[in-house]
Order: sequence, then structure tokens, then C-alpha cells
Amino acid sequence: MEEKGKKTVPLSNPQISEGDIEVVVEVLKSGRLSIGKYTRMFEESIASYVGTKYAVAVSSGTSALHLIIKALGFGKDDLLIVPSFTFVASANVALYEGGNVEFVDIEPETMNMDMEHFEQVVEKNAGKYRSMFLMAVDVFGHPLDWDSVVNVCEKYDVKIIEDSCEALGSEYKGKKVGTFGLAGAFAFYPNKQITTGEGGIIVTDSDEIFKLSAAMRNQGRGEGQGWLSHDYIGYNYRIDEMSAALGWSQMKRIDTIIDKRNTVAKRYEELLKDSGIETPKVMDYVTKMSWFVYVVRLPKPANKSIRDNVMKYLEENGIQCRNYFSPVHLQRPYRELGWSEGTLSVTEDISGRTIAIPFYTDLEKEDQEYVANHLRKAVEIFIK
Ligand SMILES: *Cc1c(COP(=O)(O)O)cnc(C)c1O
Repeated sequence: MEEKGKKTVPLSNPQISEGDIEVVVEVLKSGRLSIGKYTRMFEESIASYVGTKYAVAVSSGTSALHLIIKALGFGKDDLLIVPSFTFVASANVALYEGGNVEFVDIEPETMNMDMEHFEQVVEKNAGKYRSMFLMAVDVFGHPLDWDSVVNVCEKYDVKIIEDSCEALGSEYKGKKVGTFGLAGAFAFYPNKQITTGEGGIIVTDSDEIFKLSAAMRNQGRGEGQGWLSHDYIGYNYRIDEMSAALGWSQMKRIDTIIDKRNTVAKRYEELLKDSGIETPKVMDYVTKMSWFVYVVRLPKPANKSIRDNVMKYLEENGIQCRNYFSPVHLQRPYRELGWSEGTLSVTEDISGRTIAIPFYTDLEKEDQEYVANHLRKAVEIFIK
């Protein structure tokens, strides 16, 4: 993209095909804009792709997570254990329900939950709550080490919810993420692997979670109930037909999308080799990697202020970037609950040195070279 002779590389850019546009226009012309066939078809395509019995499409990834914890009866006597290095919604859903939150630190390599720290947190809280839940996040698309997660959770009777909103299609030892807990959530905001504009989905094998979440997304109406008959206190978390049709159309090429994103990721890895910049690693247990964003890490002694200078330099050169993630435990609502700096050392160190650089399905090689060259220059200027 050129602008006044100056190059701009956006952070993300959804891939919208002619077929996507046609199907959305078809919905608009049909007059049926909500609760129609595309919602069902989208749900079927996700359930069969991920390999679950059910899928319930909703208005966002956040509403998917909210309905999962509602369906599990999570409340004020329960604890949600969650990494702080995630999107804020992973933790917020516990506070929606007046529940309790404990944060877990991450391990530096994959930036996923640190299993030793997780076990410590679980041990420390065992017996203190009615139930303990884990909100497991496959961060940036990289699966957790699920064997050890399941192991610890079984040992201490921790119920697993999967926030797989960044990882549609990723596999751990041949099994798709989203299927390791009682239920999983995916999200379809425009920067995700596939998009519906706004949207999300719950995947589960549980009849009960399916029944409750399907009812609660639709004002608590039970299956086959009349429009003004409400068995539960529900919400309007429905997805509309235009969004569902877009998602269904995108799912037809999910494999190509994931492949292309892998190509883009590999190119960055090549381009940034020996630059001092750390590129993301994919562990051996990952049999399929579905990239969400591409997050690089500046070498020490970089810190937050150096990182912010690097970001400013990139932005000045038309390269959009973002400081994924700013720790959740340091956001105001959590500070008000007593969290502060110095509590999660790895999360705080790493989040001060990470930058998400432009990354999307159709990102061109020339644009990647432009980004990589400027990142190299930035290291020379601000770190060496
Ligand atoms: C994208 C995302 C969500 C959901 O986001 P919405 O904007 O509500 O669709 C939840 N958790 C994580 C980790 C995410 O990246």
C-alpha cells in the first residue's frame, strides 16, 4: 500500500474473497438476517473441523467465554486460574460473574503458562474454593503442553476451559486445540485466522454445556420454545446471518489460510535470522501451527522504554505494530484487586520486550523485507 509516496504495512488485513462477498450479498437479498441456515452451516463446519459434537456460534469470542463459564455455573465461590499474558477477556469473564481470579506466570520459550508455577498456584489454592477452573490460553496460536496441563488438572480436580480464540486449527500431538477441556472458544475478529467481522463460537462434547449456552445466547429460550418463553436468564449473544455466512465461506479454505500464514511466518524467521531479534519458536509437540499474530522479542538490555522507541520508529516508517500483550494483572480493575508489579516476573519482563509486527494471510514478501530491514535498523539504533 502506498500513501504520499510512503509505504504503509498494516498490522493485520483480513482476506476477503469474491466468494465471501457473494454469499454475504445473498444473505442481504434473502431478507433473513438472523437465526437462519448460515448460522447452522457455520456451526457445522466448525464442529466437524475441530472434531466436537457441538458448536454454538455467538456474537464474539468474549461472549463465547462468558457463556461457557455461565453454563458451568461458575460464581463467587469459585476460582479461575488464568495467565496474565493474554487478552483481557480471558480473565474478565470471571469478574462478570463475581468470581475469583489467580494469575499464572508464563515460561519464556512459548510464552504459554509456566507449568511449575501453575502447579504452585493450584496447590496454594486447593481446598479454598468450591471449584477451581483453568482458563487455558493457547497464546498466539501455539498450543499448550497439553499432556502436562491435563495431568496437573486431573491431580487437583481443576476443570479446564479452553480460550483457544487465537488458535483455530492448531494441533497438539495430532489433536486440535479447543478440545482439551470441557469446552473451548474461538474468535473471529478481523485479525484472527478467519473472520466474521465480530463473532465467536463455543465448541464442546457436553450435552449440558451445549443446551445451556445455546439457550443463553438467545435470551434463555429453550430448544423449540416460543419467542416469548424463557427458561433461563439469557443474553442476546446471537451472531447475525451475514457474519455466519462470511465465516462459513472462509472455513471452506481454512487449510490454505493456515498454510499461507505458515509461509509468512517462515519468511520472517529467515529474514530476521542473526539479527539479535528473537522470533517465535514452535515446539516439537505441535503437529500443526495456526499462527494468529507474529510476536518478536527484542534482546536484552531492551526494556519497555526501548521497546516503545522501536515501535515509534517502526510506526514512523509506516509499519504498524502493537505491544502484545500488556499484562492483564496490571490493568486497572486488577490493580484495584491488589495485583501489582513484581508479582509475575517473566510476564512483566517479556511483555516489556515484545512487539507484534505486520502479519496476515496475504502479506507479501517485499513488505516483510521492508519490515525486517527496519527492525534490524532499529536494533542498531536503539539497542546495540
Ligand atoms: C481475540 C481473543 C478473544 C475474544 O475476542 P473478541 O474480540 O471478544 O472476539 C478472547 N481471548 C483471546 C486470548 C483472544 O485473543
